[in-house]
Amino acid sequence: MGAVAPGSEHPAEVATKQTPVAYTPPDVARLAASAVSLGHLDSRMSVCRACPRLVEWRERVADDKRAAFAGETYWGRPVPSWGPGRARIAVVGLAPAAHGGNRTGRMFTGDRSGDWLYAALHRAGLAAKPFSTHAGDGQRLIDTRLVAAVHCAPPANKPLPAERDACRPWLERDLELLAPTLRAIVVLGGFAWAATFPAAVAVGYPPPAGNPRFGHGAEVPLGHTGPVVLGCYHPSQQNAFTGRLTEPMLDAVFGRAVEIARAK
Ligand code: SF4
Repeated sequence: MGAVAPGSEHPAEVATKQTPVAYTPPDVARLAASAVSLGHLDSRMSVCRACPRLVEWRERVADDKRAAFAGETYWGRPVPSWGPGRARIAVVGLAPAAHGGNRTGRMFTGDRSGDWLYAALHRAGLAAKPFSTHAGDGQRLIDTRLVAAVHCAPPANKPLPAERDACRPWLERDLELLAPTLRAIVVLGGFAWAATFPAAVAVGYPPPAGNPRFGHGAEVPLGHTGPVVLGCYHPSQQNAFTGRLTEPMLDAVFGRAVEIARAK
């Protein structure tokens, strides 16, 4: 199949040929919980094969390719989280795009959603450059780590509940390892919103009061000491094209995240 083999020279590579592979949801839980650092976690999630439907889809897309990218080698593997280990801000996405992250191997890189997101991160001082085109483009995140509810590209951008649940231990461990510095969690869209709270509570963050509803600009503190969860419409082409999400709206959420991160 067309996916990049672990231990490759690809600029997004974070694994070796020896990185242990999760083949089942219990494997994911075990390998995530025993990851000793975020780098270790990234390497393990990048070789995961626990969801048969998603493994088949991501590798088929990597084989078939879109005509515009026919000359490229698609990543075709789980797209690992990305960003510095002592980040104060986490951004939770839904899942990689078939011809975006699944092609380039880096979160939100190489598609229209990423164009919007990185431009906003750059305006907020959280990304070195206003674009993200490929894993060797010199982009760098500042005080921010991009994570996801699901790490493999799903058909029609819609993971199944069982796939979301299988992937949750990677998110849980991400939030757990970030805990010493984490102050704000920006959640992109309702699917990621629903995945974030159970993951946060499972690793010991104080539960939110009630059942927080997703909305753009929603703000939910996890107790008095935990991070603040901020809702943000997903920067999808659909939301951008219809005007449901505008650049000032994105800037307001990331500006608020920076304000919270610096105040605490
Ligand atoms: S979606 Fe998550 S759990 Fe499923 S194969 Fe991909 S990385 Fe593994």
